[in-house]
Amino acid sequence: MTGYLLRNKLHGVERFPLVLMLEPTHRCNLTCAGCGRIREYHDTLSKEMSLADCLKSIDEARTPVLTITGGEPLLYTYAPQLVQEALERGKHIYFCTNGLLLEESLPFFKPTPHFTWNVHFDGTEPVHDVIIGKPGGFRKALEGVKAAKARGFRVSTNTTVYRDSSVSDIAKLFEQLKKAGVDGILVAPGFSYEEVVKDVFLTRNEIVKKFREISSWGRSFPIISNPIYLEFVAGKRSLKCTPWGNPTRNPQGWKSPCYLITDTHYSTFAELMEGTDWDHYVSGADPRCSQCMVHCGFEPTIVRQMGLQDMFRMLRWNLNA
Ligand code: SF4
Ligand code: SF4
Repeated sequence: MTGYLLRNKLHGVERFPLVLMLEPTHRCNLTCAGCGRIREYHDTLSKEMSLADCLKSIDEARTPVLTITGGEPLLYTYAPQLVQEALERGKHIYFCTNGLLLEESLPFFKPTPHFTWNVHFDGTEPVHDVIIGKPGGFRKALEGVKAAKARGFRVSTNTTVYRDSSVSDIAKLFEQLKKAGVDGILVAPGFSYEEVVKDVFLTRNEIVKKFREISSWGRSFPIISNPIYLEFVAGKRSLKCTPWGNPTRNPQGWKSPCYLITDTHYSTFAELMEGTDWDHYVSGADPRCSQCMVHCGFEPTIVRQMGLQDMFRMLRWNLNA
């Protein structure tokens, strides 16, 4: 990542992406209450990208990090081949999954330090099962995590904080995940998708209140969310968005302007970069941005604006993550 940053800076590239969010399919085996994807793309859920299109997108974006997400990407026909090809291209991969198919899928993947399963948990068992609308879903995912660890995989988890999320329940969940031996815990506020009932999402003020407490947990849990981003969501720092930092590619094309909102899709990465009015979104003038603190919009800003002191903190964080 450091080499990639330096190369772009030295070549005077003003806007470059850091993490490709690849959604090879939006098909899913769950219908979570807070999910925008299965609602926005309900007419095309059966579609999936060809393996060639996925690899072309990876080569177009040229990011050092690849997040494979969806939908449930374990339902993607070519998931193991996609991971293998991306590893051969030297990518660091986060494979996001709800965990339901994790245990049975493990034999199709090989553990390597460059590949991390990122399993979604939104609360302790009763809370998580209500959010995902599936009794037994928590247990299945946790069994998947333990099985993955037993086979030598790196496993992180991802928790979305909603308006009804209780901070004490999240602390109990993190205790459980720590005991299960996860390598890291990511935590972020829920995304305010237009397609989802707004009541489930936090306003900026509500995010700050919940994250003041969460960010004070320090080293009690293996939290690997970016420390500067955690300061931002706890209201201790202000950041502008970098919507091109984590571009999203899905079966419809390159999503513009960002992971969260869709004005259009472009067929190539170059068209996305040229066709999107980035200044408009960076300015925060768009009303849809007013409550947004989503990590894929604001984490890249940290890298973009990083001074020396932040660079050392980021380095320490990267070594610990
Ligand atoms: S598992 Fe993920 S993609 Fe599937 S419904 Fe839930 S949030 Fe959406
Ligand atoms: S502030 Fe949020 S919604 Fe607006 S462009 Fe950035 S990531 Fe997208």
